Amino acid sequence: MTLPIGILIVLLGFVGWGFWRAVRAYLKFRGKLIVACPETKQPAAVEMATWHIAITGAFRDPNLRLRDCSRWRERVPCDQACLALIAAAPEECLVHTILSKWYQGKTCTCCGRPIGQTSRWRHNPCLLSPNMRLFEWKDIPAENIPLALRTHAPVCWTCLVAETHTS
Ligand SMILES: [Zn+2]
Repeated sequence: MTLPIGILIVLLGFVGWGFWRAVRAYLKFRGKLIVACPETKQPAAVEMATWHIAITGAFRDPNLRLRDCSRWRERVPCDQACLALIAAAPEECLVHTILSKWYQGKTCTCCGRPIGQTSRWRHNPCLLSPNMRLFEWKDIPAENIPLALRTHAPVCWTCLVAETHTS
């Protein structure tokens, strides 16, 4: 009786370990990512096939695969050469990471207050275009964000709300 229980515990431990690895792989690659397309050298917004990555990553290195790419709207799917870049630094490619780093140490163009930390779970600051229009992150196609960060100015969420209510 002791032996089967021991085997069961080992089995459950093994399954739990695989499940934990799958969840970790899923969380690591979820969300929109921006990567310099190896073919065009231009930014492309991609989404990973997170369920496929989670399942294949349970007991070995995950098999990375794209689910969508902003370039695929114009042409047939490519050979996904950008996967090597994403695998090397997945966190650095996340839209949220790119935007958070850009806002670090910046102050709001309207009120002058520090922008502070961004969060996946709270309202985030926005961007002011050169022609004085405010944009939330979601309003800008992810592949255009690197260009927008070169031309737009940071504005805090409070000023966005104030502007929305006065206009
Ligand atoms: Zn402000």
